[in-house]
Amino acid sequence: MRLLADLHTHTVASGHAFSTLTENAQVARARGLELIAITDHAPNVPQGAHPWYFWNLKVIPSVLDGVRLLKGCEANLSLESENGLDLPDQILAWLDFVAVGFHPHTGFDKPDRARNTEALLRVIAHPLVDQITHPGNEAEFPLDLDAVVEAAVRHNVILELNDHSFDPTSSRAGSGAREREFAEAALAAGAPLSIGSDAHYALYVGRFEAALAIAEEIGLTEDRIVNRNAESVLSHLLAKRERPRLDVGGEWEWPVAAHGAAPADIAANGDTEGGERWW
Ligand SMILES: [Zn+2]
Ligand SMILES: [Zn+2]
Repeated sequence: MRLLADLHTHTVASGHAFSTLTENAQVARARGLELIAITDHAPNVPQGAHPWYFWNLKVIPSVLDGVRLLKGCEANLSLESENGLDLPDQILAWLDFVAVGFHPHTGFDKPDRARNTEALLRVIAHPLVDQITHPGNEAEFPLDLDAVVEAAVRHNVILELNDHSFDPTSSRAGSGAREREFAEAALAAGAPLSIGSDAHYALYVGRFEAALAIAEEIGLTEDRIVNRNAESVLSHLLAKRERPRLDVGGEWEWPVAAHGAAPADIAANGDTEGGERWW
């Protein structure tokens, strides 16, 4: 199975990730991906991006070097805000893709299954929410699995099987077993599923090996995964609601090739012969 879209990537704007959006897009292109969602951490995560960052994603191309960029977020649940999230509806409605997940230091650090489930069910029912990230973090953020999966089916919200949750160096190390249980239950119940890299560095964009191994074990086939390719992602999202700003950024080519190679037109216009350093 080869997935050509990644619905979970972070940039330096997340505060604890290390690549730019352009670097992520270049790796995506090099790996043959057709689409990535930019899902930086929203304000309630320490050093998460400011609301203005999400608002201003409109300056970013919609398609860069042939890779569709979904301007998104990984929002946090909030016990204090009106909509139950840490970004206002006005900004969420501008975004192409809204992911939501539980994270440390966002008001849910004392494990409470009933409170977490109630907060998440409210968020899943929010019409602007598209995906729940890493639902299997049982030790830190326990959830009522059946209730969450049932709500995801009812509201057509994607449940993510998070590749990074299977990484022994992950802050969620140990949550892989529960992550797998969520995927199995989502598969059985007919909930939309995705596999996300949760890349915090460009070289992880589009890497899904651990999650794909779990998919194979549980019989999760490509046709059940929303992020098969750009078309499958866009048709799922557009069936759920309108995405009025999807093409606002336009289609662009990055004028400098990745890895420092001089594109032909720059080399041709310089004073040096092709093949020499152009910078
Ligand atoms: Zn997360
Ligand atoms: Zn993430």
